[in-house]
Order: sequence, then C-alpha cells, then structure tokens
Amino acid sequence: MKFIDALRLKSKLFFLFILITLGLFTIGVLGTLNLISMKKKIDALYFGSFITVVNLDEILNAYDVDIQRNLTLAKENLLSSQEAIDAVDNALIDIDKHWSDYHNHYKTPKERPFVTYAANEITDTKLFLSQFHQACQNGCNMGDLSIETLNSHIEHIHTIIAQLRSYEIQRAQYQREELINSYHETQIKLGLILILVSGGVLLILFIVFRSIQKDQSDLESVSKKLQIANKKLENASYTDSLTNLYNRRYFNIVLDREIKRAKRAKSEITFMMLDVDFFKQYNDTYGHIEGDKALIHVAKSLRSVLKRPGDFVFRLGGEEFGVFLTDTGAQDAQTLASKICNTLEELKIQHAGNKASAYLTISIGVVSCVADETLDEEDILKQADKKLYKAKENGRNRYEFSYGVLG
Ligand code: GH3
Ligand code: MG
Ligand code: MG
Repeated sequence: MKFIDALRLKSKLFFLFILITLGLFTIGVLGTLNLISMKKKIDALYFGSFITVVNLDEILNAYDVDIQRNLTLAKENLLSSQEAIDAVDNALIDIDKHWSDYHNHYKTPKERPFVTYAANEITDTKLFLSQFHQACQNGCNMGDLSIETLNSHIEHIHTIIAQLRSYEIQRAQYQREELINSYHETQIKLGLILILVSGGVLLILFIVFRSIQKDQSDLESVSKKLQIANKKLENASYTDSLTNLYNRRYFNIVLDREIKRAKRAKSEITFMMLDVDFFKQYNDTYGHIEGDKALIHVAKSLRSVLKRPGDFVFRLGGEEFGVFLTDTGAQDAQTLASKICNTLEELKIQHAGNKASAYLTISIGVVSCVADETLDEEDILKQADKKLYKAKENGRNRYEFSYGVLG
C-alpha cells in the first residue's frame, strides 16, 4: 500500500476517519434497505392476509350466529320475531362492512372471478333474508317460512366464505413462510455485509496503523540519530581536536559552574595551571609534528593521573593545560601535582633542549582553597599563573603550591 505510506500523518488520520464513516454509512444504508423490505412483507402479511381472514371470520360469524341462530330461535318462538329481525338487519350491515373491507384489498386476476361469485352469493343471500324481514313487517309471522331453506342458504354461503377463508389462510401461511425465510436471508445478508465491511475496514485500518507505526519508528530513529549528532557536535565544540581534552570554551563553562556548586557546598577545590617546559626548543629540535605528538602524550599522562568524575582536564591553548579538581584539598592537590610531573617524565620522551631534565617535563602552578562567598574566579587563575611562573623560576619540572588565592 504505497499510496497510504506516501500520505502525511494528518492525511492518514483523515483517511481513517473517512473510511470508518463510509463503513458505518454502508452498514446503515444496507440495514435500512433490508428493514424497509421486511416491513413491506410484514404489511403484506398483516393487511393482505391476516386482516382479510378476520373480515371473513366476522362474516361467517354473522351468518352462523347472528342470522341463522336468531332466526331459528324466533321460529321456535324462543325469541321475539322483532328481536330476530333486528339482529338480522344488524348482521347484514356488519356483513356489508366486512365484505367491503375484504373486497377493497388487492386481488389477483386469478382470484377476482371467485370473489365476484362470492359477492353475488352474498347479494342473493341478502335477498333471501329480506323475506324474513317482510314476514315480520306483515305481522311478524315466521311460522310459514321454511327453516330448511334458511339452513341450506346459510350453509351454501358459509361454504363459499369458508373456502375464501381457507384460501386466505393458506396464502397467509405461505406469506408467513416467505417472511420467515426472508428474515433469515436478511439476517445472513446483514451478517455477511457486517463481516465484509468490518473486515475491509479493519484490514485498511491495520495497513494505515502499520504505516503510522512505521512513520513513528522512522521519526524516532531520525530523532535518535539527530540526538547523537547533536551530542557529537556538542562534544566537538567542547573538545580540543588534537588531544581530545576539553577546550578553553568548555573550561569557562566548567569553571563558572563548578565554583558556584562548590560555593553552595562550601567545599575545597583545586586549580592547576600547567605549561610544558622549553617547548619552543622541543619544536625547534624535533619539529612541529613531533611537538604535536608530545602534546598528545602530555594529555594522556594527565588523564592517567586524574580519573575521578570530579576531575576536569583542559587544553587551554598551545602547550598550556588547566586542571580543575572538585572536593580536593591541599594534601591531595600536591600529591597529584607531583604525580603528574613524575608520570610525564617517566614517559622518557627525549628533550635535548630541556635544561631541567633529559626528557619532556612540565611545570605546574597549584592553588587549593575553600570555596567561600568571597572567592573570585579571576583570583584563582591569577594565583595559579603566579605559582606556575614561580615553578618556572625555581627550575621547572616541578609544582608550586598555594593554599588560598592570596600571597
Ligand atoms: P617555558 O619553559 O618557559 O614554558 O618555555 P617554552 O619554550 O615552553 O616557552 P613558550 O611558552 O614561550 O613557548 C611555547 C611554544 O609552544 C611556542 C610554540 O612553538 C609551541 N606551541 C604552542 N602550541 C603548539 C602546538 O599546538 N603544537 C606544537 N607543536 N607546538 C606548539
Ligand atoms: Mg607557554
Ligand atoms: Mg612552555
């Protein structure tokens, strides 16, 4: 999916949003369409079959109970003729109403002839029943009317309506089966659509997420590389390229920072100013390249003596070095200064022009003091410089020590 990978993060998220919306919309539309089709089928079953069966039931009931039974009771003098005729009139009104309801429902061309036949038979039966009405009006004497004829008429129309009813029931059963089948089909269809749409959405979601994850890890790796590059750049800006010691720029930062820290703790600090002896002669004798190598050896020997995390070694410029030692008092400072001189001399780097030794040596001005409020950075440097000058004066390859910045 190169196209997704090529998108920006914002576009990818927008794409996801559109995708989820489309997925939900599709499921919604398909679900609604299926529901509408189900509703149509339920309507067809209810209004097309169920209601029609109820209408026919009512008609049958009117013939069997309201007409036939009441007229029979009247004939046997168990009911007044007037009451029977009233019941018949009401029943005929009911029959008309229910028939009209039934008739109004849609009928197929195949059904229509039988329905018309039934309608004619209902009209005939109505005509037949009007005899009873007349008999009643003429003195309400029903004795002459044949109950057998009544029964055969009612039986005839009953058979016709019952046939229609059983036909409608069959149709209702068929439509019910159809509805149930269509319900199951809809269920399966909706299930499949749901699976397909959500599967598709999930698949594309996965691809988009993977692409976002890739972007994220790319970003992380780029930012890590950038961090490393920045660190290197920072180190480079703090490092002397020849000796790999800290440079003058970092010296200014460290001195300020560490003196402030020592002032807060009121701890002892030591600063040393170092200068290689007769280095001009060294260059003159062995050349500048050898001179550079010698400076590298000086740096190494300084590092080999000063190993604590609180020890900072700098190349301040040319063949001058600086050492800042945190939490270091007079005793340790002098021990370390002496060790630095010895370590360098013990490297036995030939130096013919050195009047203090046959080898390359260094002189050191050492200052130790307690970092109190009055302590000034410049004073430490000046005092160390003074002591270095003294060491040079006193024969080189040595250190001169001062406790405090005065004197
Ligand atoms: P002193 O004992 O009094 O310090 O004598 P010196 O010869 O060391 O005196 P000075 O400080 O005047 O000379 C320093 C010399 O160090 C001058 C220069 O030739 C040499 N120098 C300074 N920086 C470098 C460098 O980066 N490489 C090399 N090879 N030589 C350097
Ligand atoms: Mg110098
Ligand atoms: Mg020198």
